[in-house]
Amino acid sequence: MRAACAGVRAGGERLAFVPTMGFLHEGHLHLARVARARAPRVAMSIFVNPLQFAPGEDYERYPRDAARDRALAASAGVDLLWSPTRDAMYPEPPKVTVSPGPMGDVFEGAVRPGHFAGVLTVVLKLFEVARPDVAVFGRKDVQQAALVRRMVADLGLGVEIVVAPTVREADGLALSSRNVYLDAAARGRAALLSRALAAGVERFRRGERGGAALAAAARAVLDGEPAIATDYVACIEPDAFRDAAVATGACVLALAAHVGGTRLIDNVVLGEGLEADVRAGG
Ligand code: AMP
Repeated sequence: MRAACAGVRAGGERLAFVPTMGFLHEGHLHLARVARARAPRVAMSIFVNPLQFAPGEDYERYPRDAARDRALAASAGVDLLWSPTRDAMYPEPPKVTVSPGPMGDVFEGAVRPGHFAGVLTVVLKLFEVARPDVAVFGRKDVQQAALVRRMVADLGLGVEIVVAPTVREADGLALSSRNVYLDAAARGRAALLSRALAAGVERFRRGERGGAALAAAARAVLDGEPAIATDYVACIEPDAFRDAAVATGACVLALAAHVGGTRLIDNVVLGEGLEADVRAGG
């Protein structure tokens, strides 16, 4: 991978990079198309990163399908597909890792301690191999994208970070590799997550600017469904990744909830609404 990417750069072509954990869906393929629009060569990695899973999380059962991923990546214009082994990435358990700082301890980081240290460490390692000009991340994982931006700035990595909109199913559910865990009943209920976000956006459009009130409007939709357990619903300042007391259109309404045993996350930019996102197949 290192040689292939160096070859692209030596040929004078820009290289765009899309890191993933595989089991590709339309969200990943959208990132690949955004990458292709930014550079003539696109590299994608597929690596289920053990460092970002806590004990008891779904590392072992995370869905994997290498043959299908290969075909889908090729169909989306990926030139270089790289699936490193666990041993190649971590010949031994790393003692030195990237510290995400305070932005890594809130929201997702509060529920999943150590998660973002694992994410940033693998992203830094992947960047070091591919050395891309530009890398594309999904807004679906908005805190991850904010932390990657911050790492690139603070460590001076010189990679342009592009954040692409969330791809959703027709009923609003954000695409995720983990959606395969949902049985029919949970799949039906999961559409409530985007409806909760839509309720918050609606309140924002009607003039509400209190961050807590906007989060409460979204939370009320989820609280009406006893089979959904909410980890957090928050109105967040996008750069500092803090609770926003007063919301602006740039703020992000973000939530995490358990639906039938599966933990799902979703978010929306208040000033853009769900209309700014992409519909799968549409
Ligand atoms: P993952 O394979 O889940 O680690 O995701 C790899 C990349 O795809 C990350 O940058 C995610 O934010 C992005 N991604 C995942 N789901 C979606 C989606 N529904 N829409 C857009 N991007 C996504």
